[in-house]
Amino acid sequence: AKPVVAVVGRPNVGKSTLFNKIAGSRISIVEDTPGVTRDRIYADCEWVGKQFTLIDTGGIEPYSSDIILLQMRRQAQLAIDTADVIVLLVDGREGMTASDLEVANMIRKSNRPVVLAVNKIENKDIEKNIYEFYNLGIGDPMAISAEQGLGLGDFLDRIVESF
Ligand code: GDP
Ligand code: MG
Repeated sequence: AKPVVAVVGRPNVGKSTLFNKIAGSRISIVEDTPGVTRDRIYADCEWVGKQFTLIDTGGIEPYSSDIILLQMRRQAQLAIDTADVIVLLVDGREGMTASDLEVANMIRKSNRPVVLAVNKIENKDIEKNIYEFYNLGIGDPMAISAEQGLGLGDFLDRIVESF
């Protein structure tokens, strides 16, 4: 079976934007898998000849912040349990939050390989924002912009190196 790569992180960091960017430009198929809840979306992807399945997590309705956080935990744990490689996505404009730390701690317990990507880094001025994410204790943060497609080549290299 193909390795499974799950994108996790708190709401609004850009998980779906990243998923669509990678899916839209690199993939063969995007499909909603029957029988799977609509908040988990799978795509078959390929990078430098290596195939993997990418999972987006967290497409939920914003009922209340309590429910969002509950959902985030549940979905992140599900994704972590099924993934071969975990992408923790964080927001380089908002900075590190308690929720980021919470998800990082879940990932650390899983002992799975993780790629830490700091999103929304569109210019040199805010590139320094990535350094505080070393405090999550799960490895070297890498700067990306899902929206602008910046840093995605290096990011995908890191993913396929973890298989
Ligand atoms: P999710 O909740 O983690 O899936 O986040 P979304 O993909 O829905 O994105 C949340 C918000 O962040 C949206 O307004 C996006 O347009 C915005 N966003 C996503 N990626 C980027 C990025 O690379 N740069 C900037 N500036 N905004 C982004
Ligand atoms: Mg989303």
